[in-house]
Amino acid sequence: MSRHGGPEVLELVERSDPVAGPGEVLVRVGAVAVNRLDIWVRADVGHAYAARLPVVPGYDVAGEVVSVGASVSDVAVGQEVYVHYDYACGRCAYCLEGDEAACAAYEVMGVQRDGGYAELVVAPARNIFALPATLSPDIAAAAGSVYLTAHHMLFARAGLRPGETVLVNAGGSGVGGAAIALARMAGARLIATASTETKRVRLRAAGVEHAVDYAEDGWPERVRALTGGRGVDVAVDHVGGAAFAGALASLANRGRLVLCGASSGPHAEIDLVDVFARQVAIIGSSDGSRRELAEVFRLLGEGLLAPPPIAAVLPLERAADAQALLESRDHFGRVLLDPRLPAE
Ligand SMILES: [Zn+2]
Repeated sequence: MSRHGGPEVLELVERSDPVAGPGEVLVRVGAVAVNRLDIWVRADVGHAYAARLPVVPGYDVAGEVVSVGASVSDVAVGQEVYVHYDYACGRCAYCLEGDEAACAAYEVMGVQRDGGYAELVVAPARNIFALPATLSPDIAAAAGSVYLTAHHMLFARAGLRPGETVLVNAGGSGVGGAAIALARMAGARLIATASTETKRVRLRAAGVEHAVDYAEDGWPERVRALTGGRGVDVAVDHVGGAAFAGALASLANRGRLVLCGASSGPHAEIDLVDVFARQVAIIGSSDGSRRELAEVFRLLGEGLLAPPPIAAVLPLERAADAQALLESRDHFGRVLLDPRLPAE
């Protein structure tokens, strides 16, 4: 991607192979997940997501180690790994706490550094996470960023406790599905929203107690009714706009709304009196710590956490189609690119 714009700015080009420098690892990409952030970066949404062009997009990568640079001793050639996407200073107060997304020097693979819409990717050794034997690169790429983001939202930011009720907006999306799997594992009761009956049926099959149509007027009242009029303890949103306002209205008094995206746009109209009169909390959340990422892979590897459904796996040549599928919201589950697949 050498400029911002529509899907046409994704160009398949030949580049020389990257080389692992000192402290770095070269990975053959087995799978890269296509994320909403890839589309924001392409369209230039700004903030921390301003790309350094030209850039290879894609930050959710798993594959096999091809070579290691000088002074790398704890990563082996042939190992199956997830490539973490965070770059940060490693020394400020936020980094020392593991909250690298809050670091002033925070950068992301696929945004400011070359990412995984490619056959090969190079990354610092500290970004390399060995996969448990039971976890395939496909599942790791599909799970990585969305499970990390959802883990950080639910536990580090919203302080979810067992037995609480959680509302997940757009439960059929990547991060929505991850929030459902993690909240279920933690013993929460779940309500989710989805736009089609097909998705709502699949959400109920995934353990969601009630699936609500957010295209319906007054759906927040319906959520409140499903909780005996009390409202939910925690609401997870990444949609923004009316969905964000609806999630806020669905909260119990002193409930927490945690937000990690705004896929419908950056603005929402909310009732500020409701925020203080009912003492609700609006919490921003981004990314998660390396400790949380290791925890997610352990839980998946031990089978304690349900893996994400995979909607489609496409060759690299169809990156634009993969992003269009994500934007269409017609899919259920994660969309992956596999650079080893032949062009169709
Ligand atoms: Zn830092």
